[in-house]
Amino acid sequence: MTVECKKCINNTNNPSIVINDDGICNICESYVANFNKAALDEELLFLKSFIANKKYDAMVGLSSGKDSSATLYTMKKLGFTPLAFSFDIGYTRQDMFARSKLIANNMDIDHETINIKNYVGENDKKSFMRMAELYDKEENDDLKKEFKKLYYDSRKVYSTKSDVEFPFVRPCQICRKIVIKAYYAEAQKKGIQIIAVGFNEWTGLSNKSYSAIRKIQYIKSKPPIYIVHLPYLLQRNLADVSNILKEIEWEKSSDEKFINTGSGSCYLARACEYKAKCMMDFNMDTTRLSREITAGFLTKKQAKTAIHDTRKPDKSVRKVLEEAGLI
Ligand SMILES: [Zn+2]
Repeated sequence: MTVECKKCINNTNNPSIVINDDGICNICESYVANFNKAALDEELLFLKSFIANKKYDAMVGLSSGKDSSATLYTMKKLGFTPLAFSFDIGYTRQDMFARSKLIANNMDIDHETINIKNYVGENDKKSFMRMAELYDKEENDDLKKEFKKLYYDSRKVYSTKSDVEFPFVRPCQICRKIVIKAYYAEAQKKGIQIIAVGFNEWTGLSNKSYSAIRKIQYIKSKPPIYIVHLPYLLQRNLADVSNILKEIEWEKSSDEKFINTGSGSCYLARACEYKAKCMMDFNMDTTRLSREITAGFLTKKQAKTAIHDTRKPDKSVRKVLEEAGLI
């Protein structure tokens, strides 16, 4: 029987979710036990220490969506002189680059579109190929088992930062590996240490508390780069974002819902989510949305609205990756 967490939308069909006797999932339980507002206040001071008198003192990832647009605005308000950027890996909506530039320029902020295909390594390419093969397979009970097992096992591969090939069920896992390499290299190139992003993510900090900042230092002799999850750092919720959007006169693009699933602007996620849902009996985006509920950004009801529109994709995973030139 499927059991859903009382607080968020995680459920026991997800092999990494356990519900305790009080009806709360392992993610929510650990969050409540370890949340520490004082640690976030310190992180905000740390972030502000990077405000500097130079051309750009921060980079801000911009997808033209609501969260990243609000983040860009807030970084400027905090006193930064940001450079807005959008990464192009080949499988996201192509109209978002022009739209992002417009949004940034309206705030008097420079914007760059950065092609990140040269950060796709050999193992990443193999992983993309294995993903395409996995998603080509005929739907049956064996494939259901395979999907669940791969989904579960991918967490180990993902968390060790190891450079291996793996047929990821969840496209965000491989994408994020590539994007992090690109964050590091692009920030180094520009001599910037702060990259602020609008996704409401947090990182466990050796189980003591939660952090909104992730430090990356591949090369010890060079300064580290800090990825800052600004909405989480500021403990924002959807209403806060919505107020900022009114202020900057942000308008959603034609086929975008106000709260959308991760596949809103990503063709690869869109190509994966329907089959993955059929094979695993849960929508992969429940993990991301649940984290947002757990952190107070969304209500359970808002997340449920967002999760409903999983539909059959127009393009297969293979086709999307072929068109992006990645396999
Ligand atoms: Zn939960």
